[in-house]
Amino acid sequence: MVMERFCRECGAPLSGRSDKQFCCGECRTSYHNRNYDKEKKGTAGVNRILKANRRLLEAVYAAGLRRISLKDKRLRGYDERYFTSVEHRPLRRTRYYCYEFSFQIRGGCICALAKH
Ligand SMILES: [Zn+2]
Repeated sequence: MVMERFCRECGAPLSGRSDKQFCCGECRTSYHNRNYDKEKKGTAGVNRILKANRRLLEAVYAAGLRRISLKDKRLRGYDERYFTSVEHRPLRRTRYYCYEFSFQIRGGCICALAKH
């Protein structure tokens, strides 16, 4: 039995190779472009916040500070809900990462700021 297959973009019936998904290059391109745009919309907001956090940490680090209150005006705009990864360490303080920076949160402060 031959299953009838259709272009994922325009719905035109497909013939030829059984792994074919699109009727033509144009349909393949517009399908992938649309999904790329969706992905971009979905990630842009979070990426912007993470990059802003990273820039603030970079400035604090460059100023030689390794501990700073989250209320300090030099961290204005910092959003502590966002980080790139977290390291849970038994018996030690949790370490948060924002790209190449890592730190602990203690008493409303970013502490032990390090650059990797
Ligand atoms: Zn098509």
